[in-house]
Amino acid sequence: MNRKKPEAWTKLARERMQILLALAEVEAGAHPKRSKRYIELAKKIGMRYNVRLKATKRFCRKCSSPLVPGVTCRIRSRKDRQAMVTTCLKCGAISRHPYIREKKIIKQRRTA
Ligand SMILES: [Zn+2]
Repeated sequence: MNRKKPEAWTKLARERMQILLALAEVEAGAHPKRSKRYIELAKKIGMRYNVRLKATKRFCRKCSSPLVPGVTCRIRSRKDRQAMVTTCLKCGAISRHPYIREKKIIKQRRTA
């Protein structure tokens, strides 16, 4: 059996997931439960149509609430770890995003 879904379906799924993510970010402050549900729905759609949720920086991996700086998460840059540390204010989960690559690019530009 062909497991791959038609291109149009995955395109539609991607669109729907983006809409849900945007909605979740809008509702993050006023309706945290609702926004969490939006993320969960987006995840479910992604699972069904084999579409990965690329925006990993936009929601918490642990409790799947949207990460809006100043509202639902705290972002700090850690010099010793060379990373951007995002803390979810709902469950306390931490995610790190290294910025070594960006630093390298800046360095190259300076020397060039
Ligand atoms: Zn969380």
